Amino acid sequence: CGVFGAYSHTEDVSLMTYLGLYALQHRGQESAGIAITDGAWMDVTRGMGLVNEVFRHQLPHMDNQYIAIGHVRYSTTGSSLLANTQPLMVNYAGGKISLAHNGNLTNASQIRREMEEQGNVFQTSIDTEVFVNLIAKSKQPAIEDKVMESLKKIKGAYCLTIMTENKLIGARDPHGFRPLCIGKSDTAWVLSSESCALEVAGVKYVRDVEPGELVVIDKDGLKSYKFAEVEKKAACIFEYIYFARPDSVIDGQCVHDARFMMGRILARESGFKGDVVISVPDSGTTAATGFAYESGIPFIEGLIKNRYIGRTFIQPTQKKRDTAVKLKLGAIVSAVKDKDVIMVDDSIVRGTTSGKIVRMLRNAGAKSIKMCVSSPPIGYPCYYGIDTSIRKELIAATKSVDEIREYIGADALHFLSIDGLKQSISEANSDDMCYACFNNSYPVELPKDDAVGADK
Ligand code: 5GP
Ligand code: SF4
Ligand code: MG
Repeated sequence: CGVFGAYSHTEDVSLMTYLGLYALQHRGQESAGIAITDGAWMDVTRGMGLVNEVFRHQLPHMDNQYIAIGHVRYSTTGSSLLANTQPLMVNYAGGKISLAHNGNLTNASQIRREMEEQGNVFQTSIDTEVFVNLIAKSKQPAIEDKVMESLKKIKGAYCLTIMTENKLIGARDPHGFRPLCIGKSDTAWVLSSESCALEVAGVKYVRDVEPGELVVIDKDGLKSYKFAEVEKKAACIFEYIYFARPDSVIDGQCVHDARFMMGRILARESGFKGDVVISVPDSGTTAATGFAYESGIPFIEGLIKNRYIGRTFIQPTQKKRDTAVKLKLGAIVSAVKDKDVIMVDDSIVRGTTSGKIVRMLRNAGAKSIKMCVSSPPIGYPCYYGIDTSIRKELIAATKSVDEIREYIGADALHFLSIDGLKQSISEANSDDMCYACFNNSYPVELPKDDAVGADK
């Protein structure tokens, strides 16, 4: 998911949030929503679909609106429902509150069960609702303390934007799994999942929210609180491999530069030779250009992506995903015919995409197809907000590299090593990352049942 928040007494916060969400669209295409307040009223508009579909006719508006938060969502099977769209908005004894969440809580179902036993009712099936209930139940007088008390009970991955009638609040979990940054202009404050949304919202990057930090923006400016000690930072490496936009900078590391380096190291590690380097657009492109740079083999466009299709993986059911791959890509025959082709993609999850693309390239006359993947094999599920949570669907959980090569029908296959991956990001960052889906070393204990109320 992507979250956003804006605070300004002079700018149109609703429009800023709309534009911000538009720039965060890659983080989720299932639903979108914006909540606004004028200090007395609070209103939320949510819907299924892309940002520009949900807000096709009009943006939420109040004459004196000055705070807004927004959300774009991607989820796992079953929870793709209107009832589960965000921001959530509730009235409680202390007033009104709206909340948008990116991540995945690992103890949400447990807390939820306990709360249900105490008579609390839940209206959605997303773990985010647990937050709202904890905040509403807190006996602390100040909202900052209510939120911090609630966050202390929660485990897992989360970045939050929260809005009350007079405050915009942001929080990042103590491991810093998901990104969240702060932007500012003379007249506005912004919180955003990624820095790529700041420019269009008219603000400049200030800094990232720190793991375990709560930031509160109100008429007095920004205040920072520490709600948890950071034992070990574990920012998601997958943000750099796939999820984030290449023009974002997360925790001081440019996503593009990391991806480019992954491609360069892939070229060194694989030693693959060929006539051309092509990418699986768009997610494989930056690494492919890095591969070409390092190897001296020319990068050309071998596959064309239909611009009007979203990220295939993000479609929640397998059937929808299958059709989407066929719709999404086409091969350029003259570019690959009779060539030894090196094809670069960012990841192999289920192996469906790669198999289909290899076949497509063979039909287009490629002489050989060597595939390079700019991440190690994903052998373990993610419980922290990336949709690879079902182990049996992960091809690398049950197959060796050579079996995967055979399954997808490539002539050769190389995955970036974990060491290579670490080298592709700055040394300052590489130890502070989560690599669990590659090395089974989970920074936060796993949910007991596998039924994670997943909300990305
Ligand atoms: P597969 O067919 O192996 O399941 O999917 C691999 C493709 O899915 C890659 O091209 C990758 O860019 C794309 N992809 C889309 N969304 C995700 C995601 O959330 N996680 C991962 N790992 N890959 C994704
Ligand atoms: Fe990211 Fe993988 Fe860790 Fe999930 S398990 S947070 S995808 S690195
Ligand atoms: Mg891709």
